[in-house]
Amino acid sequence: MGKLIKESKDKGRLHIDTPMLGESLVSKEFLKTTESGEYFRMHPDINVLKIGGQSIMDRGSKAIFPIVDELIRVKEDYKLLLMTGGGTRARHVYNIGVDLGMPTGVLSKLGDKVSSQNAVMLSVLLAKHGGVRITHGDHLEQLTMFCRQGYLPITTGIPPYGFFEHPAQFGSIPPHRTDSGAFLLAENIGARSLIYLKDETGLFSKDPKKAKKKEKLEFYDKISVDDLIELDLDDLIIERPILNMLKNAKCLKDLQVIDALRHPEKIREALEGKHVGTIIHK
Ligand code: ADP
Ligand code: MG
Repeated sequence: MGKLIKESKDKGRLHIDTPMLGESLVSKEFLKTTESGEYFRMHPDINVLKIGGQSIMDRGSKAIFPIVDELIRVKEDYKLLLMTGGGTRARHVYNIGVDLGMPTGVLSKLGDKVSSQNAVMLSVLLAKHGGVRITHGDHLEQLTMFCRQGYLPITTGIPPYGFFEHPAQFGSIPPHRTDSGAFLLAENIGARSLIYLKDETGLFSKDPKKAKKKEKLEFYDKISVDDLIELDLDDLIIERPILNMLKNAKCLKDLQVIDALRHPEKIREALEGKHVGTIIHK
């Protein structure tokens, strides 16, 4: 892009002749010119699996062992990156933080420790099968290499916003938690797929756990992100910021939410491209 480099005679300063010279990088018209027809995908064979904190990990061995067994099997056929949720312990620390009036960025820093704990536990369980815990710092370019070597990389789902977390639209809970982190990473590495391992069949018109016994809920087996934004449901099975992220995504075209709790076999089916939960697409 930029043509290097002219040294000005008078002040000895460096001048770079670049098409973006003088742009604020805010103009919508200008930004549209930076749209690429096709974006480079760093890890096009990697499948990002987010393991729910509350929905899976907090249920202990009965929930986790069958999923771990399935992961050990599918890892032979698919390249995987596991990302961990937080769950009940994160909710507990958020609750104390909210009671103390802590800012969102502080709550974010408190919650990330719990997601890390779950990453440690999973990497211990998977250690003898190649499970290896990685950081967000130095290893993300190496994911494909890890998988080719037979490793199963595991990292925390929390994106590294910390004190830079965005103010939430409602209240103070950090809006970008582990579902969002999994989305952002999958999008930026150009992942093959993004699958959320949860404890419900998929997206309903209401949280099934809060619905009354005879209440009839609608199930959305496949829905576009525009329609879902339009529906403006009060509660969702994935974090709400993901809707806008998917709308603007450059690589990811869709994501799937599956019930891995009752049906660990759905992990393989989803990796095979089968429709076994709720697909949310662009
Ligand atoms: P995780 O631990 O995977 O992040 P969460 O408990 O945060 O899981 O979110 C998943 C839960 O969201 C489901 O177990 C379900 O009870 C709840 N939920 C809320 N709204 C919906 C909805 N509209 N459809 C399905 N599940 C929903
Ligand atoms: Mg959650």
